[in-house]
Amino acid sequence: MTTRTTLRTPADLASAGVIGPDQVVALEAVARRYAIAVTPAMSKLIRRPDDAIARQFVPDVRELATTPDERTDPIGDAAHSPVEGIVHRYPDRALIKMVHACPVYCRFCFRREMVGPGGAALTGAALERAMAYLQDQTGIWEVIVTGGDPFMLTARRVEALMRRLGEMAHIRVVRWHTRVPIVDPARVSPALVRALRIGGKAVYVGLHANHPEEFTPEAETAIAMLADAGIALVSQSVLLKGVNNDAVTLAALMRRFVENRVQPYYLHHPDLAPGTSHFRVTLDEGQALMTALRGHLSGLAQPTYVLDIPGGHGKVPVGPSFLATASDGAVHVTDRKGVAHLYPPKDSTTP
Ligand code: SF4
Repeated sequence: MTTRTTLRTPADLASAGVIGPDQVVALEAVARRYAIAVTPAMSKLIRRPDDAIARQFVPDVRELATTPDERTDPIGDAAHSPVEGIVHRYPDRALIKMVHACPVYCRFCFRREMVGPGGAALTGAALERAMAYLQDQTGIWEVIVTGGDPFMLTARRVEALMRRLGEMAHIRVVRWHTRVPIVDPARVSPALVRALRIGGKAVYVGLHANHPEEFTPEAETAIAMLADAGIALVSQSVLLKGVNNDAVTLAALMRRFVENRVQPYYLHHPDLAPGTSHFRVTLDEGQALMTALRGHLSGLAQPTYVLDIPGGHGKVPVGPSFLATASDGAVHVTDRKGVAHLYPPKDSTTP
């Protein structure tokens, strides 16, 4: 469905033919709770109301149902926020949330209660307090710029941030997390790419994509602009029911990343964000999919399957494990076909 502008209301979605006119009233209740935005780059990929692209961006009345386990701050950002805009959960790295806006509003977003077009950007005195915190905390080696989507910032603001971080000697790595190169590739301008390289830090971009079809020619050009400028790219995806929870789709997605010089990094188990239970898979299903990838996909294309432990306890890999230790201490290693092999005991492998 080709559109020229971003679709932001149920009426917009109906006019573009993305939803039926009979759905508008019901989806207005969803729109009052969670922001909507479907960029032209994504709306043109939507062929059916239930396809993998539509499911990610088109609101659904199931979002109005919150289950008892779901929470407004599923990964516990607030518990680790010493000053506005900063999340400092791990000793050597901190997040800075520069904007609350995004080019699209993903229906499964773990920060869906905080993001939206009306949210204020981090500016003025609040930005100065965030900068002072990063300056004082000399154990911070890496700053992760996030939001919302930080590629919504102008190139001028990106440059200003990179200059400030460039003055902090202890910060060696700056990582930007974004969906922009995929969902609104025209925003990746030469000025933005130049701004990212200011400040002398190692710059990484964490690129969020969930389905191989998202790699349009325009997206691939935007990604190439970043890669050609010497910016390292890593992937992040969310494992989502009805979008990518099958081995063929996941393998194709990981290959698309690698073909575009994006190193597969994280496959996130979906967080307990409100109104997202229709996207959730089980950990068992996720582990089975990872086992299938291990059997069929280049090592270059293997992401780490991770869970953010609800409540702010951090991110951990959740398998699968290919090792098992029996009660007698014997170690069994399972191969890609599921066959277990006894690994020699420690005494026989050391001189
Ligand atoms: S782009 Fe990221 S922050 Fe924005 S809605 Fe999607 S997942 Fe959430």
